[in-house]
Amino acid sequence: MSIYVFGHKSPDSDAVCSAIALANLKRQQGVDATPVSQEKINPETTFILNRYGFSAPEVMSSFAGKQIILVDFSDLSQGPEDLTKAEILGIVDHHKLGDVTTPNPLECWIWPVGCSSTVLKSMYDFYGVPIPKNIAGIMLCSILSDTVIFKSPTCTEQDQKAAAALAGIAGETDLQALGMEMFKVKSAIVGTPIRELVMRDYKDFNMSGRKIGIGQLEVVDLSILNDVKAELAADIKVLKAEGNRHSVFLLLTDIIKEGSQLLVVSDEPEVVQKAFGAVPQNGEVWLPGVMSRKKQVVPPLEKAFAA
Ligand code: MG
Ligand code: MG
Ligand code: MG
Repeated sequence: MSIYVFGHKSPDSDAVCSAIALANLKRQQGVDATPVSQEKINPETTFILNRYGFSAPEVMSSFAGKQIILVDFSDLSQGPEDLTKAEILGIVDHHKLGDVTTPNPLECWIWPVGCSSTVLKSMYDFYGVPIPKNIAGIMLCSILSDTVIFKSPTCTEQDQKAAAALAGIAGETDLQALGMEMFKVKSAIVGTPIRELVMRDYKDFNMSGRKIGIGQLEVVDLSILNDVKAELAADIKVLKAEGNRHSVFLLLTDIIKEGSQLLVVSDEPEVVQKAFGAVPQNGEVWLPGVMSRKKQVVPPLEKAFAA
């Protein structure tokens, strides 16, 4: 029976590419491992997989009775419904430790770096397994995506080093150009259904017993979103009601200006001021310098909700 390797819901490029790379490492070690994805992959990931000759992993949403390895998450809220009925053999991640637990010891690699693929690069090196050229390419793109071409405050020296080594293997010489090409694909939102945009990079969190949703759209210029902003704001209200959520936040991140417009719908809107020191007007507020949900949005919100 194969071991299934997969990332979080609303999969981003790291969740998909690192699952493929980890399954490759396991297979090179003689383990039957299959990368899958909980949901359909996004356009940026499609661009990356096409570039290096991969097809999209199969979508799979039920894992009861299966052996699994989690990549890029360890929160139950970001996993499949029946996650607790699966056997977790490993976790490779770069987020805060979540709430999954296991009856047996597991292979756990969770490092405070900018991308799961950075951790994976060290795993390949640790086991002395060579990284195939096309796998190096998708790992490199994962790092460029997660670190916003090394501009995110989550980016570490280890990410820079891993990216340089992977670029060498993949034969990529202009990482800025490659990264911008990816973010242009990501910014092409014309004609995309509003809910698909809201869910494109979306995560639910449990904060002091409240269900909190936080989505993010990263674009090369916020004006790209002018025509759809009102619809996005309306849709997060619907999403909040549908899922019985306490709050839904949507970060509209301008990767060039390096800041985010935060759209807010919440039972306690005052939490935004507590967390960010800024008061939303008409359900939105500009947060200068804020690019990372993981490092600059989740921790202050968790603190504000716990207070
Ligand atoms: Mg991710
Ligand atoms: Mg990641
Ligand atoms: Mg991200």
